[in-house]
Amino acid sequence: MNEQIRGYLVEAKPYYKPVANEVELFRAAYGRRMPMILKGPTGCGKTRFMEFMAWSLNKPLITLACNEDMTASDLVGRYLLDADGTRWHDGPLTVAARHGGICYLDEVVEARQDTTVIIHPLTDDRRILPLDKRGELVHAHPDFQLVVSYNPGYQSATKDLKQSTKQRFGAIEFHYPKQAEETAIVAHESGVGDDIAAKLVGIAHRSRGLRGRGLEEGISTRMLIHAGLLIADGIKPREACALAMAKPITDDEDMTQALNGFIEAYF
Ligand code: ADP
Repeated sequence: MNEQIRGYLVEAKPYYKPVANEVELFRAAYGRRMPMILKGPTGCGKTRFMEFMAWSLNKPLITLACNEDMTASDLVGRYLLDADGTRWHDGPLTVAARHGGICYLDEVVEARQDTTVIIHPLTDDRRILPLDKRGELVHAHPDFQLVVSYNPGYQSATKDLKQSTKQRFGAIEFHYPKQAEETAIVAHESGVGDDIAAKLVGIAHRSRGLRGRGLEEGISTRMLIHAGLLIADGIKPREACALAMAKPITDDEDMTQALNGFIEAYF
């Protein structure tokens, strides 16, 4: 394995609790090097899953968080000026394609559509990446795979993947883990006992019922872990829940009151 990409191997086994048969499905998709979309709400475990899969397949993982200012050069690379003059630097997508890794584009819809089309020739049977500025055609390494994450809840007409992009991928849908699993995850990740973790999960469940009825998203697993960490540090549960769960997701008075009501019902 090339030295440049070896640094992206996931060394320690990431803690990941499967929620359905996603591990098996992803393994089969990787076997065919099928480009994959991980769909699901924010903070439900997509990134952790990807780290776990990269570790279990023993493949390097190159992650890039997408944003609307991102250009194709941020993905493929650019000429940069250094002490020896101008030199080409491969971008993260090129490093993964050239040397054989999994490239994970987090929140891909944040990138503009004219940026995302760069992945088209890589995600069909050509598996090539043209570096126009360099006049080079990179043939993807046999180990290369492209994975993107996508939150269907946030999509609007202006921010969505083109059909011509979507149809190149397979997709696995993620949901928040079931109550017992989510409790175990929150306890493991934050260090609180199962009793406290179960209460945090109970609050989250109630908040998720308000999705689309005043809340854009419910409280995610990630937020429960934040609250748990503060409780483990000695912060009073109500204060920890307000700080980590209620205040960040809404500015609306009524919604805040509703969430505080859930918190007070448990703590
Ligand atoms: P996403 O990428 O979907 O926004 P993350 O993967 O960052 O979310 O998940 C947030 C946190 O929740 C992770 O850091 C991890 O601690 C925890 N988590 C969520 N789901 C799981 C799971 N199934 N197994 C282990 N940890 C999980």
